[in-house]
Amino acid sequence: AEKKKVCIVGSGNWGSAIAKIVGYNAARLDIFDSRVTMYVYEEIINGRKLTEIINEDHENIKYLPGHKIPSNVVAIPDLVESSKDADILIFVVPHQFIKNQCEALCGKIKPTAVGLSLIKGFDRAEGGGIDLISHIIQRYLNIEVNVLMGANLAGEVADEKFCETTIGCRSKEWGSILKNLIETDNFKVVVIDDVDTVEVCGALKNIVACGAGFADGLGYGDNTKSAIIRLGLMEMIKFAQTFYKSSQLGTFYESCGVADLITTCYGGRNRKVSEAFVKTGKCIEDLEKEILNGQKLQGPITAEEVNHMLKIKNMENEFPLFTAVYKICHGDLKPQLFIDEIRNHPEHI
Ligand code: NAD
Ligand code: 13P
Ligand code: CA
Repeated sequence: AEKKKVCIVGSGNWGSAIAKIVGYNAARLDIFDSRVTMYVYEEIINGRKLTEIINEDHENIKYLPGHKIPSNVVAIPDLVESSKDADILIFVVPHQFIKNQCEALCGKIKPTAVGLSLIKGFDRAEGGGIDLISHIIQRYLNIEVNVLMGANLAGEVADEKFCETTIGCRSKEWGSILKNLIETDNFKVVVIDDVDTVEVCGALKNIVACGAGFADGLGYGDNTKSAIIRLGLMEMIKFAQTFYKSSQLGTFYESCGVADLITTCYGGRNRKVSEAFVKTGKCIEDLEKEILNGQKLQGPITAEEVNHMLKIKNMENEFPLFTAVYKICHGDLKPQLFIDEIRNHPEHI
């Protein structure tokens, strides 16, 4: 059989970390073409193109400095050029950019290609609901799209510190191919078929992480943060069970569930910026620019997307933590009132 060609669509913090793993496995394993393409949103850094820096120095000095990307990973600034021959498309851009990229790729990829989305977030659907990112990609490109979500802070993965991840896969055949492409001794993959719940977990935990950051900024301790994590988890479960009828509780015990929630509430960017939001009084957008050097936050926009739907369905009261995070990020509620909003949570009645 022909070797499978892989393209990574995205080259931020997580995109660059996963490029290390995918590059390593594609070179090592016979079933994959060793040449991996990576779509890079071009920018100039110290007078040089980022694609040129990656291809010559094998390092993404802006989004993952200090880590070598394997030399068989080739950075390409043209989206269509990078992906047109791929059998496997790994989507890993901040979720606010995916629709534009799908529009650009529409009709330009192999019809037999399969997608793997690492993107944590939602989009607004027509009619007031939310859309899963994997469903958007599937609709635009008419390909099977699977998802990978887990407790995977990019820097720690790039450091090759042991962790786990979850692949939600729609077919058995692709489950094992994708596991082969992604798994290493230090990055263990569990494949399950509850695909939508895996993705819902990955998106929603970023909202909870903002709540954890507010509590940190307000000076609360570990007990308070654990309460936020637990109440957040209960809202995540309720959200999945309300809007995705086939959702299975067991999925929340996987890396994409409780593990990612914990990791993000302690070590993530959403937590960090939310803490600074409370301590400095600056707005989220300014802090994102100031603290993250071009990396993007997903939590505040996800909170807005979720609230858009909950408000229309008159369900804000059933998700007080999600609702409070949205209002605080949006400037409708003082962070000092955050805990009051969850003091009488439905879980306490
Ligand atoms: P990032 O936060 O580092 O974002 C920066 C990337 O966005 C850069 O590649 C930049 O070129 C690109 N970009 C900026 N403006 C753009 C535009 N207009 N159009 C297209 N691209 C543009 O990205 P990331 O950390 O790789 O995150 C991607 C996804 O992976 C997110 O959904 C995130 O939640 C998820 N994720 C991140 C981590 C992590 O630790 N960083 C871990 C797991 C999952
Ligand atoms: P942040 O985007 O909050 O850094 O979370 C990263 C992540 O998804 C870890 O699994
Ligand atoms: Ca190979």
